[in-house]
Amino acid sequence: MGKGGTASHLISRRAAGCLWRSASSKLAALVNTRHDTNLNPPIKLISTDFDGTLFAEFEMPPIPARIVTLIGDLQARGAKWVINTGRDMSSLMEALARARIGIQPDFLVLVEREIFIHDGMRYAGIPEWNEACSRDHAELYARVRPDVQKLYDWVNARFRATVYEDAFSPFCLIAGHNDDADQIHAHLLDYCRGIPNLTVVRNDVYARFCHTAYNKGTALTELALRLGIGSQEIFAAGDHLNDLPMLQTDRARWLAAPSNAVAEVKETVRRQQGFVSELSHGEGVADGLEFSLRTAGLEHLT
Ligand SMILES: [Mg+2]
Repeated sequence: MGKGGTASHLISRRAAGCLWRSASSKLAALVNTRHDTNLNPPIKLISTDFDGTLFAEFEMPPIPARIVTLIGDLQARGAKWVINTGRDMSSLMEALARARIGIQPDFLVLVEREIFIHDGMRYAGIPEWNEACSRDHAELYARVRPDVQKLYDWVNARFRATVYEDAFSPFCLIAGHNDDADQIHAHLLDYCRGIPNLTVVRNDVYARFCHTAYNKGTALTELALRLGIGSQEIFAAGDHLNDLPMLQTDRARWLAAPSNAVAEVKETVRRQQGFVSELSHGEGVADGLEFSLRTAGLEHLT
């Protein structure tokens, strides 16, 4: 979230649909194979937020080798990895390239709502889901647009903040700091009560509107359904409010948060018997993933 650009360099939607269906059935067959435990880790889908969870902008390396090795080993044994982020395609690709990791996510959830699969060459959108997502947001935003100027004025009269429209929301916010963002967030949620299906997605000082049917949690469940992977076989890790929809045990049995996660995320993860690490960012995710694999492996054997 808060990073501009669009995913315009994708292959045609029809081709993407064919590739997705073909890859999807192969993957479903792969992840449902239960003959060899070495090729059958108890966790089959790893969903990681990016910024603040896996990726620490000012650290070197920004994604630690420990989590890269761990995810790479699991991928080699048949598990799949999805980066579930608020970033858009170009912004994520640029950050991943800078991180210079030797592994590649199998799937992406971008802008907290659109799903992409790596087809061997590039990431292609799932046409049905992404088209429905665009259509639903367009209809919703048509109802919001007449009120946007009023919302801009409310913010500008009270705070030093940046408000703007981008390709994903007619109202986007970058607040000066988190206390301001909290107050603006509350005002926006108040406004949302008058518009069915409208809500706010928030990450640190960033916020924007979105449709209640599309978030990191619903996108993760949609992906898992298409892969034939149950929530009992899914690990999810995140650090901020926009991760809360996927940090739910009905979507992912195995939950983790790094030490830098905000209090509400830590509380949500702990309340559901998830793992909150004493280590930050990628090291914390590695801790959580190792803990979950050990526990899930034991459950797997019973
Ligand atoms: Mg984050």
